[in-house]
Amino acid sequence: DDVTLEEVEEHVWEIAREDGMNTPARVLASEALLEEIADDDTLRQIRNVTHLPGVQRHALCMPDGHQGYGFPVGGVAAIDAEDGCISPGGVGFDINCGVRMVKTNLTYDDVRGREEELVDALFDAVPTGLGGGGVVNGDAETMSGALSRGLDWAHEAGYATRDDLKHCEDEGMRPDAEPAKVSQKAKDRGRNQLGSLGSGNHFLEVQRVTDVYRTDVADSFGLEADQLVVLIHCGSRGLGHQVCSDYLRRIEEEYEEFLADLPDDNLAAAPAGSDLAEDYYGAMCAAINFAWVNRQLITHQVRETFADVFETPWEELGMELLYDVAHNIAKKEVHEVDGEQKELYVHRKGATRAFPAGHPEVPSAYRDVGQPVIIPGSMGAGSYVLRGGEESMARTFGSTAHGAGRLMSRTQAKREYRGEDVQSDLQEHEHVYVKAESGATVAEEAPGVYKDVDEVVRVSDELGIGDKVARTYPVVNIKG
Ligand code: 5GP
Ligand code: MN
Ligand code: MN
Repeated sequence: DDVTLEEVEEHVWEIAREDGMNTPARVLASEALLEEIADDDTLRQIRNVTHLPGVQRHALCMPDGHQGYGFPVGGVAAIDAEDGCISPGGVGFDINCGVRMVKTNLTYDDVRGREEELVDALFDAVPTGLGGGGVVNGDAETMSGALSRGLDWAHEAGYATRDDLKHCEDEGMRPDAEPAKVSQKAKDRGRNQLGSLGSGNHFLEVQRVTDVYRTDVADSFGLEADQLVVLIHCGSRGLGHQVCSDYLRRIEEEYEEFLADLPDDNLAAAPAGSDLAEDYYGAMCAAINFAWVNRQLITHQVRETFADVFETPWEELGMELLYDVAHNIAKKEVHEVDGEQKELYVHRKGATRAFPAGHPEVPSAYRDVGQPVIIPGSMGAGSYVLRGGEESMARTFGSTAHGAGRLMSRTQAKREYRGEDVQSDLQEHEHVYVKAESGATVAEEAPGVYKDVDEVVRVSDELGIGDKVARTYPVVNIKG
């Protein structure tokens, strides 16, 4: 059945409430971006999300949104944490997949002509691919520290500075984590992956800043034109995936009738207040901590590698964390709904938190300007640093996009592109050096499989949910 959209204002499209829907749904997009999702399941999926009990205001699809499993990628659903539910499908399999940006005081000139040396060194230092092997050995004590305390553990173990913690969403630790609710199987899958990129869409990219749009904010972020920065994109590896599978199965077993009322099995949710909801929340928070440790250990390797290649201690290279944001997560947050403060499970699946200036959860370093938001584009396009916009709380429960968003399935991408060609094109025409575990990955992630990130960011900026601060462009890229 077709979904009818009504334009309520520029870039805001509403799907009216019908039978079974608890609220209307909204899609935030330009006409050009709507075109891209006209023929897939995105619109039906965001409409389906409104069937979940306790959804507040609207289920929302961000400008980069596209079809996913159950929830669209780019979906935001804020659900009553007392009377509603929590949905593992609204978080996704890769719990706390996210991105962090590490700054340097190097410029593009410092690396020109040495790209291959740098990409090789990074590839050697950072474990990639599907196989095992991380930066640390995940014995029982390490796992318990990482799962329960996230970056606090990493700091204690010598892999993070105090400053790193202050520049991470939630300071890199969800206190609600309950490692005991993470299955042994999940822990076993994660123990040799602590500090590993994984495969496919995950990457590590050295970039140069090409444009600055808001100089005052860029100053506060410590960003300027020509500067080299490093972007790290990965999540909770096999551990998070197993947590998601475990709890989806338990929901199917324990809440069969509740599920039967939902339009899509992949929307499986546990009622708020149930043991299962609490258990999932505790396990998910532990997986969130695991992912933060993962990105931190990779950061450690990157710093050491830069120190080797540039023969300077990383501290002197100014390799501080700009910020680390999650884009697959559900969190208890308090938001104003109809004039009332309510505790909600804010599900962001392929969406980024984008809290504005003044919000108490924005780290003190950025409280006056708004939270940094990091939006990767592709290995052959720009990426963006935004700041949480003034309109984000009212429009999107403090959220914006998380990337360009896929246009093409992986299967289709492998028919369209050859990894080696993509790689040599990028190198010859764009001076981007890509190194990957397999050619297939490069084909699956070719720039052409993604939407126009400039357009996604333009819409975010015009809606005032995430404002453009700076744009970057790849220099070298490693893929799992
Ligand atoms: P996801 O978490 O949904 O897999 O990906 C987030 C976003 O990362 C994608 O929507 C895409 O725009 C972006 N992306 C994927 N591969 C690369 C890459 O190699 N480099 C950069 N800069 N961005 C990428
Ligand atoms: Mn991921
Ligand atoms: Mn991701």
